[in-house]
Amino acid sequence: MKHKQKRITILGSTGSVGCSTLDLVGSNSKEFSVHALTANNNVNLLAKQAKIFNAKIAAIANESLYPDLKDKLSGTGIETLCGREGIIEAASSSVDFLMAAIVGSAGLEPTICAVRNGCTIGLANKECLVSAGDLFIQEVKNHNATLIPVDSEHSAIFQVFNFADLGSIKNVILTASGGPLLNFSKKQMKKVTPEVAVAHPNWDMGAKISVDSATMMNKGLEIIEAHHLFGMESKKIKVLIHPESIVHSCVSYVDGSVLAQMGVPDMRIPIAVSLAWPKRIKTNFEALDLGSLKSLTFRDPDSNIFPALNLARQALDMGGFAPTVLNAANEVAVYEFLDKNISFLDIAKIVEKALEEVPSGSATNLTQIYEIDKNTRERVLKETKPSIISKSTA
Ligand code: MG
Repeated sequence: MKHKQKRITILGSTGSVGCSTLDLVGSNSKEFSVHALTANNNVNLLAKQAKIFNAKIAAIANESLYPDLKDKLSGTGIETLCGREGIIEAASSSVDFLMAAIVGSAGLEPTICAVRNGCTIGLANKECLVSAGDLFIQEVKNHNATLIPVDSEHSAIFQVFNFADLGSIKNVILTASGGPLLNFSKKQMKKVTPEVAVAHPNWDMGAKISVDSATMMNKGLEIIEAHHLFGMESKKIKVLIHPESIVHSCVSYVDGSVLAQMGVPDMRIPIAVSLAWPKRIKTNFEALDLGSLKSLTFRDPDSNIFPALNLARQALDMGGFAPTVLNAANEVAVYEFLDKNISFLDIAKIVEKALEEVPSGSATNLTQIYEIDKNTRERVLKETKPSIISKSTA
């Protein structure tokens, strides 16, 4: 019998998860063929990837780079697309597996298009679930799509979670490395620069998620993510600091069993799990050597040092548009911090303030989510600017 290759599309192929996905596709080339690749700005890498992996479609979000993309791929037969419509078109063509790895809320619309195709989706974009969780999950159910979490914690839970007997599950435990600032005092945190915040001790990740890891908002967003993926209520989702990042998360059962998934901290493992599911593929890097580990440590997080954890839980408990506001405000604040317009501690303050002004009601369609997301961004940006001026003259 002829072996059937999985046709895959990667949204966000030039980012950290996108590159790792292609790395695995390259080393398992018999298993996969690449249909479409999309990128935001990195036209050079996109063109290079499209050629190496013989993609059918390459799409660049930034329209001004379209001539460049066309030029680089001329004569290759690879179809080129651009802009929001181009990304949507690439996301909408039917494939066996789609990796949703666009960072931030920009990933929502194209990922929903893929969901509506009833496709199997590797979900690396956590904002889809944080910003529009209820609607997103409804779309997944309506179109019979399959979601495989790529976030390492949720991939871990996914692998040891008994979906057939939800009553047997006591709680889920999300482990957190604590990020690069785990042992910082509040005073030390005041002076943290973007360079320090993005230097994660265990994981090699993009800038936005690295800052989220330093504030622990990343873990906060993951609480909301876990709620939607596994149907767990907030109080059944625990967070545990585990600086070694070996135990990627656990499921605690009513009989006292705690099932955990372990591995070296390398995103290629959860990516491989999603790509190959329900099977497994080989990865060509060193496996976990338990004998060489000195110790694995765990402790409860200090929410005074990391207020973002409680802010995320608060947003989940508030429901309605609160998680949308949380996500949008946080994203704006992180980029303002990376641009050195605000201080590290301002990030949580900005999010806290935004949560005081959540519009009432809940979303019945995605347009409402986009609107709340956009309004929140504009409001937060406007409110942030004067404080920059006062700070720089202080
Ligand atoms: Mg994670």
